[in-house]
Amino acid sequence: MEKILNYINGELLEPSNRSYFENYNPSNGSVYSWVPDSDESDIKLAVGAAKEAFKSWSKTPKQERSNLLLKLADAIEENSEELIRAESRDNGKTETQARNVDIPRASTNLRFFATAILHDHSELHEMDGDALNYTSRQAIGVAACISPWNLPLYLLTWKIAPALATGNTVVAKPSEITPMTAFLLSKICIEIGFPKGVLNIVHGYGSKVGDPLTTHPDTPIISFTGGTQTGKHIAALTAPMFKKTSLELGGKNPNIVFADADFNQAIDMAAKAAFSNQGQICLCGSRLFIQKEIYHSFKDAFVQKVSALKVGDPKANENDLGAMVSETHMKKVLGKIEEAKKLGGKILIGGERAILGGELRNGYYIRPTVIEGLSNDCTINQEEIFGPVVCLIPFETEEEVIEMANATKYGLSASIFTENIGRGHRVAANIDAGIVWINTWITRDLRIPFGGMKQSGLGREGGFKSLQFFTEPKNVCVKI
Ligand code: NDP
Repeated sequence: MEKILNYINGELLEPSNRSYFENYNPSNGSVYSWVPDSDESDIKLAVGAAKEAFKSWSKTPKQERSNLLLKLADAIEENSEELIRAESRDNGKTETQARNVDIPRASTNLRFFATAILHDHSELHEMDGDALNYTSRQAIGVAACISPWNLPLYLLTWKIAPALATGNTVVAKPSEITPMTAFLLSKICIEIGFPKGVLNIVHGYGSKVGDPLTTHPDTPIISFTGGTQTGKHIAALTAPMFKKTSLELGGKNPNIVFADADFNQAIDMAAKAAFSNQGQICLCGSRLFIQKEIYHSFKDAFVQKVSALKVGDPKANENDLGAMVSETHMKKVLGKIEEAKKLGGKILIGGERAILGGELRNGYYIRPTVIEGLSNDCTINQEEIFGPVVCLIPFETEEEVIEMANATKYGLSASIFTENIGRGHRVAANIDAGIVWINTWITRDLRIPFGGMKQSGLGREGGFKSLQFFTEPKNVCVKI
């Protein structure tokens, strides 16, 4: 079985303690590779290498950094078939999802930030002929980039691309559940001669690797995407050290359908928002608010749409949903469905594990599940489930739905479906969410500020927000 290795100072290394743990293929429940069970000593080595590389990388001309990142993007594209298969096998997602979204986005992230640094501008403030101020932005040091398992290479590159483009070096920690494409990326870096020590990747458990990485005195920047609980833990550890921290956390996103919406468009988008990537996207619309006038017709059409979704072999093009990422996560989601039933929720469709035949019989599959009859304030509609589960909630007025949409601790994203442009803007203005879509879902422009309000996060990434996050402003005042 293949052994995944750490990538430190341009080399593939075994963890210093030589220990590994099992990596599962969620589509069939088998162990297929070994993940380094790294610890503090590997982090020390990686941070040391990154700190040393920072001396030259931060002084490397922008154009050269840009060229190297574009070379990496090209190499991802050249290896895309291998990466697509690896992402699907490691995560359980369909190859279609990896082909259409994850892997192309990984190279796009690199291209976007590799070129953004070439078109940046600086600020200048004149003081009535007396003095002038210019503000330069400089790289900070070693960035700790910690990413989750749902969009492994996509979210890893979303962090390392701006960090490296702006002249920082990186120690990345991918989720231990989905380490494979980060490992393949490190092999690609070696093949293309990416400079040593600039990007380092250490695999292992959050507690053993994440804690020493985030608390290391030489990692002044932390970019984290993951669950709200882990985010709280990291914030508590790093706040007294005054580290620059960006937290992209969970969501319980409302999807609001008004009676005047384009009915078919809203049905399609609601299904996509609920079940893409098996419902394992932080932006998934897991609370589906439907205006009372159309509640019954919408419900019937939605259930019919969901009944046509196919769960099965992630490799097969015809399947819409693949496997859940792990047995633990599958059980957690099934547990939430049982809890929903106990609370009086009615399962309209799904609500159970899908047992496939043959080699896939031990895979972690759940049927797309639609529930009605639960109040907005019950735990099922308040806690992030992060699976293929959506609850239908009727509403009467704009005011009522705004109040319900906002009545959670999260504030990541929201979608509004209406043909009344005034209403769309009005509701968007009153929703507590960092990202609001009108008549669409997950339409992403990489230039926009991305992130959440309330317990969905702290700070924004994307476009110039990322370039600013990964740099420190310095004002110089010149007396004229
Ligand atoms: P986790 O919070 O469990 O893990 C995220 C990453 O943090 C993993 O690499 C994890 O490692 C690591 N980690 C765990 N403990 C620590 C620690 N003490 N110090 C540093 N790092 C640590 O999230 P999941 O991987 O389960 O991802 C799902 C969550 O991510 C959901 O809540 C989802 O909403 C959120 N998410 C948010 C997005 C956003 O942009 N707002 C986008 C995508 C997902 P390990 O896996 O080894 O535990």
